[in-house]
Amino acid sequence: MKPIQMADLIGQYQKIKDEIQQEIGKVLDTATFINGPIVKEFQAHLEDYLSVKHVIPCANGTDALQVIMMAYAFKPGAEVIVPSFTYVATVEVIALLGLKPVFVEVYPDTFNMNIEDMESKITDNTVAIVPVHLYGQCADMERIMKIAKARNLKVFEDTAQAIGADYTFSDGAVAKAGTIGDAGSTSFFPSKNLGAYGDGGAITTNDDELAAKLRMIVNHGQSERYYHDSIGVNSRLDSIQAAILNVKLKYLDDYSAARQKVAKRYNDVFSTVSEIDAPLTADFTTHVYHQYTVKLKSAEKRDALNKFLAEKGVPSMIYYPVPNHLQKAYSYYGYKEGDFPITEDLCSRVISFPIHTEMEADQQDFIIENILKFFEKNLG
Ligand SMILES: *Cc1c(COP(=O)(O)O)cnc(C)c1O
Repeated sequence: MKPIQMADLIGQYQKIKDEIQQEIGKVLDTATFINGPIVKEFQAHLEDYLSVKHVIPCANGTDALQVIMMAYAFKPGAEVIVPSFTYVATVEVIALLGLKPVFVEVYPDTFNMNIEDMESKITDNTVAIVPVHLYGQCADMERIMKIAKARNLKVFEDTAQAIGADYTFSDGAVAKAGTIGDAGSTSFFPSKNLGAYGDGGAITTNDDELAAKLRMIVNHGQSERYYHDSIGVNSRLDSIQAAILNVKLKYLDDYSAARQKVAKRYNDVFSTVSEIDAPLTADFTTHVYHQYTVKLKSAEKRDALNKFLAEKGVPSMIYYPVPNHLQKAYSYYGYKEGDFPITEDLCSRVISFPIHTEMEADQQDFIIENILKFFEKNLG
């Protein structure tokens, strides 16, 4: 059996090595490292794949969110609603721009933005809502958009973990995650579902005017070289990463299917184990399983399971052990323990098991066997 990892990036690379090296070779041979033609090519292919008018490539997923919020030039102190149960990057950019992150709960079964709590947190100072499609399934975008439109708020989807997931509206229309709000951000961090071999990110939008602004901001605020109309940043996707992503995009649906197959096997087993709550997928979304995250019934057993598995050579991770509202960096917003009981409870009970595109049956058997062993259960 091959050693088990949370994500098998080497195994995945081996299967597309020739193609990748050929495409990297083209960039090297032409020395088109920055803004080479391959960046535009990848951009067009991703626009096509997502059925979205504009993809604006940038340096990483955190920049993508930051640049979106810069484009709107919200007044300092304006409130942006965001779940506390997310990766810190979502919150960080809000704070960095002098805006105020206003945290909300998630649903305990899907881990995504709790719409009732979100609605209750809207004030006259609210300017935007940032739903996060956590672990790979969509937040309830139709309801979020309806509320946002009625209150004249912008919606920015953090799609770093859910590229390729489909959202189905009540009228049957289907849209890709990140293409429903005013703008979406995504990340090409190597272990993300569409991962580069370094950092990378992109913004998605159907708004022409916004797209023009975003393209300017990622390029030092210039529309014409050396004429700077707004304060910008330097946030580029480099050509080598674009070449890699352009190859991998062709396989994204296969990669999602491979992840879903692993998840199904886990779900089938864990649905029979009373100590584990297998993840649920809402009926309006597909799940691309960036992470396979379960809740244990008992918080006390969580860290023990993590340790037990590590001793057997099975990695597992806690995404995330501390909610953002209790992070030291954000303590000046005055949140305290008990403010978000669902989120705090999740942080004490979630655990993520290995899931990736290269999982072999014997590896998954071994993982499952050891999880069951911990709970003193046998397979079947
Ligand atoms: C990975 C991630 C980001 C940040 O992406 P980077 O490319 O690492 O900057 C933002 N939000 C979420 C939810 C993420 O998982």
